Amino acid sequence: MYIDTNGKKWFKGNIHTHTTVSDGRMAPEDSIALYRKNGYDFLALTDHWKVSETKITEDGMLLLAGCEYDVGRNVRDGIFHITSLGCTETPACDRSMTPDAIIREIHRCGGIASLAHPAWSMNTCEQLLPVVDGKVMPLFGADVTEIYNSVSGLPRNCRPYSGIVLDLMAARGYFTKHVATDDTHWYEADACLSYIMVQAEECTREAILDAIRAGRFFATQGPFLEVTKDGDAVNVTCSPAESVVYFTDTAWCGHRADVGHGITQASFKMTNETFVRVEVTDADGKTAWGAYIGR
Ligand SMILES: [Zn+2]
Ligand SMILES: [Zn+2]
Repeated sequence: MYIDTNGKKWFKGNIHTHTTVSDGRMAPEDSIALYRKNGYDFLALTDHWKVSETKITEDGMLLLAGCEYDVGRNVRDGIFHITSLGCTETPACDRSMTPDAIIREIHRCGGIASLAHPAWSMNTCEQLLPVVDGKVMPLFGADVTEIYNSVSGLPRNCRPYSGIVLDLMAARGYFTKHVATDDTHWYEADACLSYIMVQAEECTREAILDAIRAGRFFATQGPFLEVTKDGDAVNVTCSPAESVVYFTDTAWCGHRADVGHGITQASFKMTNETFVRVEVTDADGKTAWGAYIGR
């Protein structure tokens, strides 16, 4: 747990993890111990089509029930992987179901649904803005999506970052909420790297899920980041950073980034943009990803 300068509590968690229960290389108990040792407050084991349980470990780690459901076999028709978080009963999902049906079932069971690794899946903007029952349904109704997925980085898949397709959706007016996860499989180069920090009063299933639904979290690999809006100004407060980047829906921007050493405050003035999304990167190359800020 981290307590910020305003006395607010933040809890650290990875919500996408595989173990030997499916195709991960570490046993569940060893994976849980590894994350606990690295300062995590909560963790979801999301083995493929195998639902884990919600419980608190002896050393105080909150485990949230999770599972990963995959639909689609080729990029052209669409590959969609969906992880569940915190369901209170086992979702009745099977491989014949559409992504929106799987997500409805996760919601029926009280859980949060995340659309995993859009970049790895090579999802297009059109695929992520499907028309269901005559209405555009961003992310098939998923609550969050992964802007960064550690296992999709070096050295195996090399497409970890989904900011481009999410920004294209935002440019059409659909502001998704994004998380960062490890999607841990190998436990080398993919464990304890990318996570979410959730602002809640306590680390319980209810408090963590409520905070995620309310958007009280950010995605990070280490840097702390707070982005607020005051009129046209988007104000950034962060742990010491080497760059603060402002992603917008303008192709050209006179102020795309602030670059320096130990930046802890920065500001961007909105003019023609309909959104700003902030990324900060520190001296170790670790990044934090802010939420979409609309006009
Ligand atoms: Zn996946
Ligand atoms: Zn996965």
